[in-house]
Amino acid sequence: MRSLVVQTSLIGDVVLTTPLLARLAQDGDVDVVTTPIGATLLATHPAVSRLIVYDKRAADRGVAGFLRIAGKARGAHSAYLCQGSTRSGALTFAARCAERIGFTTSEGRWTYTTRVEYREDWHHARRLLSLGDTALAASATDLQSALIRPTLFPTSEDRDAVDLLLRNRSRPFVALAPGSAWQTKRWPGYGRLGEILADEYDIAVVGGPGDLAAASKITSRVDPERIVDATGKLSLLGSTELIRRSIAVATNDSSPQHLASAVGTPTVTIFGPTVPELGFGPLAAGSRTVGNHRLDCRPCDRHGRAACPLGHWRCMSEITAEEVAEMVRTVIREETDR
Ligand code: SF4
Repeated sequence: MRSLVVQTSLIGDVVLTTPLLARLAQDGDVDVVTTPIGATLLATHPAVSRLIVYDKRAADRGVAGFLRIAGKARGAHSAYLCQGSTRSGALTFAARCAERIGFTTSEGRWTYTTRVEYREDWHHARRLLSLGDTALAASATDLQSALIRPTLFPTSEDRDAVDLLLRNRSRPFVALAPGSAWQTKRWPGYGRLGEILADEYDIAVVGGPGDLAAASKITSRVDPERIVDATGKLSLLGSTELIRRSIAVATNDSSPQHLASAVGTPTVTIFGPTVPELGFGPLAAGSRTVGNHRLDCRPCDRHGRAACPLGHWRCMSEITAEEVAEMVRTVIREETDR
């Protein structure tokens, strides 16, 4: 039986949808409607039969684009609404999916034929899996459960690109990912963290073209012999491959932690205005989180904000590079002992 999965949210959400894709693929072909950037992550995924790229803000804008994508998406009996807008729900209706399954809390729920409880207390990978198999998701009680472990598959080109970046380097390295789409989620201590960790390990900086300024705060403080700056130089799957080869990654509550979850790299995630209890924490074995537990204003938003509504941004500014470095050392030590 052919399924249709609609996931047009952010990169991390696309990664966390892969356990659902793997489950649905056991029953038949799986078509996925996703964004252009999401498609770059899923292009090599063995659970995906067909990718339908929905560039809803550019090439596929408006009614004509909507109808074009709905036409391409036809052929599935059941649709799984991982992205909950009314537009996504209407898309699966227009694609003539007889069964449309989404969360009780989604904006587009009135377009669904089946509504699944959105479990606030579950990890988001588990929540998404519950759309396709509620009983299986219920059994994934452990964050380390293979049932909710995301998967990604870098290509040989991605591996070659990473080989090239790491040429002539043989020391173990820690990946630092200082970026985030949201200003308040960008911890400001990565420069000092890089300086501290470079005494013990090599450093690789991971990020997209928009993270160059954040990356320069690290590269300017670390001996060039001890650091590789991959910012803006790799595809998303290339960054995934680089993270896979690192001994640990330190990241904000942003997409690199989910890339790390997909390749099992122990992660230290620095949470500021968000908290892991919202369901988006790291899943790789041995991962840890850091947060300012002295504040009662956390979380102040599910996704992060452009600016701190209280003006002080203490959720991030009071987290020291020394405490994050110690957490990184801990996950590396525990991984070595495992
Ligand atoms: S209100 Fe609190 S949690 Fe939100 S950004 Fe400001 S300090 Fe951080």
